[in-house]
Formats: sequence, structure tokens, C-alpha cells
Amino acid sequence: MSLLNYLFDTEWNQRRDLDRLDDRADSLASGVSGIDGQVQHLSTLVGQLSATVRVLVRKLAESGQLDLAKLADEVKAEIKRPSSLTGERIVARCVRCNAEGYADELVKVGADLWCRPCARNP
Ligand SMILES: [Zn+2]
Repeated sequence: MSLLNYLFDTEWNQRRDLDRLDDRADSLASGVSGIDGQVQHLSTLVGQLSATVRVLVRKLAESGQLDLAKLADEVKAEIKRPSSLTGERIVARCVRCNAEGYADELVKVGADLWCRPCARNP
């Protein structure tokens, strides 16, 4: 390979790399602005759903079909207890001591689940 070919080739590679970086920067910028729009959309949706739930709860309470204090207690308990989409909690075992527990209470270490005592003293 001659020196001129080498120089031309190197400049072309550098220009190609710069073009690729420009493309990546453009796609990252559009991705970030897209996330902003998605967050705004989800925020609007959550606001609408919250308003719908408030109206439904108020109407049920006014008609005497709902005990607000009992509902508040159940909502607090539900928030403290993370569950799967079906509402059932997944039971799993610690890979180290074989203790059984709910998967959402075990500590994920790589692909394994550990109980909290084992995770504290590996
Ligand atoms: Zn364990």
C-alpha cells in the first residue's frame, strides 16, 4: 500500500467515524426528547386515571356501597406488599442456605436470589 493510499484511507476512515458519531449523537438526542414526551404523556394519563378513581370512590361512598376507612387500610396494605400482575406472590429459595421466601423479599445477586442474612454475610 502506497503512502498516498494509506493517507487517503486513513482520512476516509476518520471521516466515516465522525459521520457515525454525528448519527449516534442525533439518535441519542431524539431518544432523549422522545422520553420527555413519553413521560409527559404518562403523567397526563396518571392524572386522568387518578381523577377517574377519585370520582368512582366518591360516588360509591355517597351511595353507601363503600367504607372509605376500610378502603384506605386495604390500599395501604396493598402498597406495602408488592405483588405480581395476578396478585400472587412468587415463592423462591435462597441459593446459599435454601431458605424459602417471597421472591420480592429476596436479594437478587446476579441471576441468583439470596435471603437477606446470606446477602449481608456472603
Ligand atoms: Zn440464605
